Amino acid sequence: MTSRRRFIQIIPIAGASLLVARTASAQLVSEKDPQAAALGYVADATKADKAKYKNYAAGQLCTNCALFQGKATDAAGGCPLFAGKQVAGKGWCSAYAKKAG
Ligand code: SF4
Repeated sequence: MTSRRRFIQIIPIAGASLLVARTASAQLVSEKDPQAAALGYVADATKADKAKYKNYAAGQLCTNCALFQGKATDAAGGCPLFAGKQVAGKGWCSAYAKKAG
């Protein structure tokens, strides 16, 4: 009986950690993703199409964009334009908006 009770106690914990693991490993946006292509998203901001996107300026990164949902030091984070996925911290897209401050 003891082992059965213990098993029942472990299940919810295992479920919770699975959920955390899934959230933490949200998929990175691919540059080939149709939404990414439409916005000129690149995982490396220095590779932005400067001829096509005249608004690009050196130093612009997802991490200093107002829409970036991670911390300035994060390698990747959420962006409302790519729901359920993550953009690279060093990425860029044409919807870039400088973070205030
Ligand atoms: Fe990066 Fe900002 Fe474009 Fe989102 S809107 S992909 S955070 S540059």
